Amino acid sequence: MKRYDYIVIGGGSGGIASANRAGMHGASVLLIEGNELGGTCVNVGCVPKKVMWSASQLRENILLDAESYGFDVTIDSFDFAKLVANRQAYIKRLNGLYESGLESNGVTYVKGYGKFVAEDVVEVNGQHYTAPHILIATGGQASYPNIPGADLGIDSNGFFELTHLPKRVAVVGAGYIAIELAGVLNGLGAETHLVYRKERPLREFDTEIVDALLAIYQQEGIAAHPLSIPKSVSKAQDGSLVLHFENGQELVVDAVIWAIGRKPNLAGLDLTKTRVELNDKGQVKVDKFQNTTQTGVYAIGDIIGKLELTPVAIAAGRRLSERLFNGKTDEYLNYELVPTVVFSHPPIGTIGMTEQEALAKYDQSQIKIYRSQFNPMQYALQTRKVKATMKLVCLGEEEKIIGLHGVGLGMDELLQGFAVAIKMGATKKDFDNTVAIHPTAAEEFVTMR
Ligand code: FAD
Ligand code: NDP
Repeated sequence: MKRYDYIVIGGGSGGIASANRAGMHGASVLLIEGNELGGTCVNVGCVPKKVMWSASQLRENILLDAESYGFDVTIDSFDFAKLVANRQAYIKRLNGLYESGLESNGVTYVKGYGKFVAEDVVEVNGQHYTAPHILIATGGQASYPNIPGADLGIDSNGFFELTHLPKRVAVVGAGYIAIELAGVLNGLGAETHLVYRKERPLREFDTEIVDALLAIYQQEGIAAHPLSIPKSVSKAQDGSLVLHFENGQELVVDAVIWAIGRKPNLAGLDLTKTRVELNDKGQVKVDKFQNTTQTGVYAIGDIIGKLELTPVAIAAGRRLSERLFNGKTDEYLNYELVPTVVFSHPPIGTIGMTEQEALAKYDQSQIKIYRSQFNPMQYALQTRKVKATMKLVCLGEEEKIIGLHGVGLGMDELLQGFAVAIKMGATKKDFDNTVAIHPTAAEEFVTMR
């Protein structure tokens, strides 16, 4: 039996961050990862997604915007396989950087899948390890619908395995991934269908912002299929896929991508050997300090299903190690007011309460909404305009800003700074007192009337 101060199961965003921080504070740390280092974000999530998003954005700019600026450009060919190969080479470099990062913090890394064989014993590749502190950071994986032919479709991992661009694609789902992949595929030139079962996607986001995005998606050629529930998928003789809906309609495409949510990676961990309990969604139950129901076992990141975002997993992992190995006994992550971006085309950025949430919580007289809709200057010369919509949700007489939302060019980059101000308790007056930067999209937030 080998002994460590800290065993981390899962070398993704949260696990690596926590292991490194513990190592920095002198703990002896073992990190167990069954796949490539970096987890979902680096290998099949944020990183390859952002590369594809940038490629798609670039094609749009060249094809749709460049001419108005006087550039006579055409795209003779698009080598999708080359884009994928370059992307994967970049990811390989990142995998290596993560490994050297672990090394420099003195973290021992074992490649293999870990499973509990006793409450405080983890087995990897037949070897047993024990520690007084064990972290579960095994992330999640895509859910598939329970319908005939579902396995004819692919998930986001399958999207990143594509080596050519499908001609016609149905993206099924209503969350971040469906919206992002639909935008990427459309921008790269595929006939794109966005299929969702309710009236609108992104139902937890501000309705006005989502409607603004849907209008843009329609303008840019994405076919929306609201109120559409897939019943089955079949393969036609010519190899195309037929998506059959409960309402009797059909959609013929070359690829179906499921993006209907994710479930925790628990299979193989054998939590029955522990006293770690799950909630009704099968996610690991934790308190605010990331303690599970078994003393000495903790969980962070997607496995707890709270806010499935890389910086959240990282922040929770680092704070946990500060608490366990640096004497900061009250350190924990506050999951309130976390800014987030959907990398749609153009991106959505959001922090705090939506207008709907604010009106459900407070009296209408307490809530004041400021909004602005405009054509970003990048579209000054073209007939094609992709509108930006921005809004502030303010509370009470002092107009404390409790929500900031927007969709439009640059929303991804401008949100972070505003999030700092809102986290500090900024009011509308603070925004008004800040001189604008012109000409930018961000200035709209400090000039709203
Ligand atoms: P993961 O990063 O999933 O890491 C878990 C690791 O545990 C994996 O490497 C897995 O192989 C390993 N593992 C599982 N079981 C075992 C075991 N038994 N033993 C050993 N190892 C095991 N978030 C953002 O903030 N921004 C984005 O732009 C963004 N884009 C995304 C795009 C897509 C397509 C997807 C799917 C997700 C995206 N996310 C994004 C979410 C983000 O990737 C996750 O929230 C984040 O990776 C969660 O980190 P984690 O440490 O909890 O788990
Ligand atoms: P989400 O949980 O965001 O959304 C999935 C949605 O699909 C559900 O909300 C639901 O919406 C709909 N749905 C659920 N079941 C079905 C079904 N059987 N048939 C049709 N639709 C269904 O999941 P994603 O997979 O998009 O992403 C997982 C998480 O990863 C995200 O929540 C996010 O935290 C993270 N992520 C973050 C990104 C970023 O930061 N930019 C990018 C990508 C992922 P409804 O009930 O309205 O139908």
